[in-house]
Amino acid sequence: ILQISAPLQFLGFLYRDLRQSLLDLDFLFNILITRPSVKDGHIELQKVGPGMKIQAENLHFRYRSSRKILNGVSLTANPGESIAIVGPSGCGKSTIVKLLLRFYYPELGTLFLDNIDLQLLSQASLHGAIAIVPQDTVLFNDTIYHNITYSRPTACKTEIIQAAKQALSGGEKQRVAIARAFLKAPRLLICDEATSALDSNTEVEVLKTLKDLSSGRTCIFVAHRLSTIMHCDKILVMDNGSIIEEGTHKDLLSRGGTYANMWSSQELKEKREPLPK
Ligand code: ATP
Repeated sequence: ILQISAPLQFLGFLYRDLRQSLLDLDFLFNILITRPSVKDGHIELQKVGPGMKIQAENLHFRYRSSRKILNGVSLTANPGESIAIVGPSGCGKSTIVKLLLRFYYPELGTLFLDNIDLQLLSQASLHGAIAIVPQDTVLFNDTIYHNITYSRPTACKTEIIQAAKQALSGGEKQRVAIARAFLKAPRLLICDEATSALDSNTEVEVLKTLKDLSSGRTCIFVAHRLSTIMHCDKILVMDNGSIIEEGTHKDLLSRGGTYANMWSSQELKEKREPLPK
């Protein structure tokens, strides 16, 4: 899942410069393909506020294919809480995020943000209140200044420089995404494998910045590497479209189930194959 709403708003504008830009065409086409014909709602989600309340009840979902991808997922995040979704590749983690962003309707089940049914919310206000730090950030062939600005085109120069200073110490693409998110000051922050493509040293640095960014906001982290999400208020372990365990890192370790097994096998692997310094 990537920064979606702004690219859609600016597609017309961007088309002119497309040929000489470094846009990832697959990314753009994916947006166009996956964007559904959802009906827009009329209730405005508050743009500013201390986090966002998320309640998902019994979500069932399948893409066009017949295979069920989500099989009765329920979750709650209170304003300011951070939750992590972990589990094997293909178990449906990013699909939950896509439903939350209203790119698709659930086949069954409900999603409420701030106690409002997602289907009643205006798309613009929804995307205005959410920032996403994806695994692979798309940069436009333009200055860092403009790459950051695009999350809030009305921002003034001082605000943009401030956002860049808050995020840009390592010069990584991910830091541009984080600077965009700082500038947007979202109520909900979604990090979808935001640091998984980074080497371990850069990952540690980027995680520190993400921690600053996440403070006071509701956050959803989708991650494979458990050490990056162990401090979340709640960890949801998914398998095959269902949440099979839920709790804090400590709770889940003491339960000795799937999470505890994932944790020990990742620890073992990192001991056996230390990541490059
Ligand atoms: P990963 O950790 O690899 O990112 P994930 O747990 O986030 O995986 P999802 O991206 O939610 O998994 O995908 C769940 C399943 O749905 C996968 O089998 C995937 O191939 C399938 N899927 C994802 N997007 C689509 C789509 N647009 N159309 C059809 N199937 C899709």
